[in-house]
Amino acid sequence: MTAVITTAAGIARGVRSGEYPAARVLEEYLARIAAHEDRIGAFLLVAQERARAAAEAIDARVAAGEDPGLLAGVPLAVKDALCLAGLPTTAGSKILQGWHPPYTATAVARLEEAGAVVVGKTNLDEFAMGSSNENSAYKVCRNPRGLDRVPGGSSGGSAAAVAAGFASVAIGSDTGGSIRQPASLCGVVGMKPTYGRVSRYGLIAFASSLDQIGPLAGTVEDAALVYQSMAGADPMDATSIPGDLPDVLSGVKEGREAGIAGMRVALVTELCEMEGTDPTVARVFEETVKKLEKSGAVLVEVSVPSLVHALSAYYLIAPAECSSNLARFDGVRFGLREAGDDVEAMNRATREAGFGPEVKRRIMLGTYALSSGYIDAYYGKAQRIRTLVIRDLEAAFTQADVLLSPTSPTVAFPLGARTDDPMSMYISDICTIPANLAGIPALSLPCGTDDAGLPVGLQVMAPVLSESLLFRVACAAETLIGALPPVLL
Ligand code: GLN
Repeated sequence: MTAVITTAAGIARGVRSGEYPAARVLEEYLARIAAHEDRIGAFLLVAQERARAAAEAIDARVAAGEDPGLLAGVPLAVKDALCLAGLPTTAGSKILQGWHPPYTATAVARLEEAGAVVVGKTNLDEFAMGSSNENSAYKVCRNPRGLDRVPGGSSGGSAAAVAAGFASVAIGSDTGGSIRQPASLCGVVGMKPTYGRVSRYGLIAFASSLDQIGPLAGTVEDAALVYQSMAGADPMDATSIPGDLPDVLSGVKEGREAGIAGMRVALVTELCEMEGTDPTVARVFEETVKKLEKSGAVLVEVSVPSLVHALSAYYLIAPAECSSNLARFDGVRFGLREAGDDVEAMNRATREAGFGPEVKRRIMLGTYALSSGYIDAYYGKAQRIRTLVIRDLEAAFTQADVLLSPTSPTVAFPLGARTDDPMSMYISDICTIPANLAGIPALSLPCGTDDAGLPVGLQVMAPVLSESLLFRVACAAETLIGALPPVLL
């Protein structure tokens, strides 16, 4: 039997043409999960039987002469912050243990309609708060490219699942970098769309003005296929962008064939010359930029001064929004309930037992930042910085087509290295947060490794709604650099 583990584009092509059945593709992935998942911890739930039924349904459609879709038979891993009716959803938190959502997230439903086969729900930092997956209330997730290393977070399980070949593609959510940072640390492609491009309906909210769902994949083309299949207007999400969804797959093709000659690519001074950046990350990034320049890209440098305040603004806005969003977990409506003499005591006991330390820290920070007497000094000021970041980035995009930076200042760090120091953990998102504050699309792709084989990520940022351009540049870069195959454990 020839191995069918390949790209999502390749799997879908093979399944659609009847070359091999979706059921066989799935069994190959399930066998890898069975053999190696114990050492990785990428999944909170593997949905074997459900996946087998889905794969059989795809094969039946092929046999009946129907086209099962762009992602026919492609094994997909779903971050456990996204609801899927019929399976439990935990958001990585004890407070949701045993909760079964009554509906399915729009993004997941669309991917299933396009033929993707959900293999399981992936591990994550509790309520998507974290950068290493170590805030998961359930289990450790290890980086498949270095088992003593974190996979990044919060979509660490999704990134690890793709890097380990447990799923061909995955989806995650990105509030401050939670798709791109783990993608960078695990050596896969991760993309955050423009705010509003992908419906958030069915995503458990962390910070609603920043949250976006996006793809993780082995190649830029696969990420584009997933994006194209799930993006677009949705009446169930009031912030979803109306109108038709432009085709990004032509951008991928253009990037591969025409490259990026003549395109203005900018290095962002504040992100590229940051204190604390690993020398190896800086070196690999520089080498990558040289390759782009050699292929004809016009290199410019732009300064985006307000970015030095972006991290601080984010760590006020995101906690403020989460303190409000997480108020709904009160022991009445969802999951866990601890006993108490009256309703207030029950609420308090449930939240005390159900939330982990980082979630409590965020709720307290956010409540403080919003409290009367402090709201202007903290939340108000952070919002003003956010406006500055938006304006500064708009100005930067008049000087360049896309902006570049490392995705994360370091490669994957050792498990436990930052758990006692929240600030050092927060810093790993310093390059990814600006795109969330401004709502612009951004993508991370592997651009090399350090001596130990740990991946370095290149971040590309594009103007609002310029996904096609983003995929074009990313695909051109990938063609020059080469994609990193999944690790054979
Ligand atoms: N690591 C960041 C945080 O902890 C970003 C998380 C995310 O994007 N969900 O808030």
